[in-house]
Amino acid sequence: MKRLWTKEDDDLIRNNVKHNTVDEIAILLNRTGVATRVHMSKLGIKCQKRKRKYPINEHYFDNLNSNSAYIIGHAMADGCVRETNDGKFQLTYCISAKDVEILEFIRNEIGSTLPIGEYRINEAMLRMNSKIIFNSLSNYGIIPRKSGKESLKNISKEYFYDYLRGMSDGDGTVVFTKRKGGGYEYCWKIYCSNEKYLHELRDFEGSNIGYIRQMKTLNSFYCWDVKKIEDILYIKDKLYSKNNFCLQRKKDKFDMIENYYNIRTEIKQNNDIKYNGCKFGYWTVIKKDDKLYKNQNHKGYVCKCVCGSIKIIPASNLIYGKSKSCGCMKKVRC
Ligand SMILES: [Zn+2]
Repeated sequence: MKRLWTKEDDDLIRNNVKHNTVDEIAILLNRTGVATRVHMSKLGIKCQKRKRKYPINEHYFDNLNSNSAYIIGHAMADGCVRETNDGKFQLTYCISAKDVEILEFIRNEIGSTLPIGEYRINEAMLRMNSKIIFNSLSNYGIIPRKSGKESLKNISKEYFYDYLRGMSDGDGTVVFTKRKGGGYEYCWKIYCSNEKYLHELRDFEGSNIGYIRQMKTLNSFYCWDVKKIEDILYIKDKLYSKNNFCLQRKKDKFDMIENYYNIRTEIKQNNDIKYNGCKFGYWTVIKKDDKLYKNQNHKGYVCKCVCGSIKIIPASNLIYGKSKSCGCMKKVRC
């Protein structure tokens, strides 16, 4: 049976509200926190703010800058905001555990020491409660149940590529793999269930690269698909021009595509000057190997390892990262 609120209850609330939190008062009343909170708001009694266990700069998203734009873009991809039943305004990031560096970056940026938790298998989670952050993020289209309703809001030209890098580190993919029949396959893609949003991104970017298409395997998903190598390198330059935070694993893939492009161009132009000095793992390219270069199957480069040893390495082994050192760094995992 529902317990009615008595005058004694109200007095108890009034006597304790100054020094106790709602949850503490609820314990005194032997009621739930939610019920107590609702009753107190009916009485017009403001409850004591719960002290934060972990500090947060709640005004972090008030201003757009490179880092906040990145985090907003990433929130559009992998963040989730919601209002909980007990009146909390919650922002949760849940990502693959191998990308936990993103959550560490976000945590530092918002000036917090919040713990990064585990969620399901191989997932890392960062969760914070703040009505101020919740409201700020809604200005940028980060709203509850946003899936399918994504939109590009209040992102200025200046920080667009930071936002896009965040989006790409969340819902994007960079591919560079060996093709079965020879050669390499590469692309950059951003996935979303909202086709219109992908068009918004592509139009805002303005260079008209790639195209938006429906996924063959997942009909409810679309992707912005960029396949031309020059276009991929164009977007790479834009995304990483400021040297700000990024997910290293995806940038490495972009670098591999760029290396591949450079070496391919160089082989085509038979010009080995441009490539000299480039680093692949622990190798530094000294020059193209003339003898082997004449044989089409064995394009090679004379490389120097960090330990000083010199070897001729086939171009494909360098580009594809198959050879990273003379072997001396294997123990150190190179
Ligand atoms: Zn070595």
